[in-house]
Amino acid sequence: MSTLTDYAPIPASALGPALNEQGYYVGRVERNLYWITDGVYQCAFLTTPDGVVLLDAPPTIGHNIQRAIDEIAAANGVSNKVEYFVYSHHHADHIGAASLFDRNVTRIGHEETRRLLLRDDDPARPPNEETFGDRRTLEIGGERIDLAWYGPNHSPDNIVIHLPDHDTLMLIDIVNPGWVPIFQSNLSEDIPGYLEAPATALAYSWKHFIGGHNGRLGTREDIAVHQEYMNDLVESSRKAIDSLDGTPYYQQYGANSWAAIKAILEETARRTAAPVTEKWTGVLAAADVFTEDVAFQVMQSVRLDLGYGSWVHP
Ligand SMILES: [Zn+2]
Repeated sequence: MSTLTDYAPIPASALGPALNEQGYYVGRVERNLYWITDGVYQCAFLTTPDGVVLLDAPPTIGHNIQRAIDEIAAANGVSNKVEYFVYSHHHADHIGAASLFDRNVTRIGHEETRRLLLRDDDPARPPNEETFGDRRTLEIGGERIDLAWYGPNHSPDNIVIHLPDHDTLMLIDIVNPGWVPIFQSNLSEDIPGYLEAPATALAYSWKHFIGGHNGRLGTREDIAVHQEYMNDLVESSRKAIDSLDGTPYYQQYGANSWAAIKAILEETARRTAAPVTEKWTGVLAAADVFTEDVAFQVMQSVRLDLGYGSWVHP
């Protein structure tokens, strides 16, 4: 174990409430809306006169989801039966416990989520029968849930789940309150969409943010902090691209173009990350762990999506 890298301590502000003996925490977000975490993943549920509406089901929380629902339902004398299930997006790490719930549950998600789940053909994730394109409002047991899709970001099918009467917005795998994103901007497929998504979230009215990670809920301030961190990477990318002269790399590697390209882009990512890591370590958890990985893909997007530093042969 001595070969593992040492990192800066995690700020206390990154951590959430303590877990119970079974390894989960369930808490009230507002009124009859609750959230569950295992310290890394999060999901949520609404108790209503028409049964429980479950929002995501990460497999790491697994059977603790029903335990948490049972606990809340018993305390409040309401139904513990999940009747509706809303999928945030098709990824197995957020809905891989979907098959634990009754086959008769009504599953709702984006039309692209259905298409991807049919493609993936994973028995753990039954495709949602109910779909929508751009917008859909659910009225279940007198409670309102607004679903919206704004295009690809983290995944092609990731949606905004707004609960206006609970002052809550759920948007998964974009902002991890208190933490930097992991690897390629939370393994995002579309970086321009990923960079735009926080502004979309802030355009809604809400107080409580459910981001899917890690141990605590988020605030509007968490979204703004994340935006500043990502914007720092975009700005630093431009400077790093401007600063790097590829000539010595091509001279060194000769006909092996890929060796030169690898060295150039890795050095550009290092230069992109350096000032951002320094600024954010101790503020956002794991800034010293993942900033260089996030920087690489942001820098690629600045080059390839925005065309920055692209020169046309004279
Ligand atoms: Zn995901």
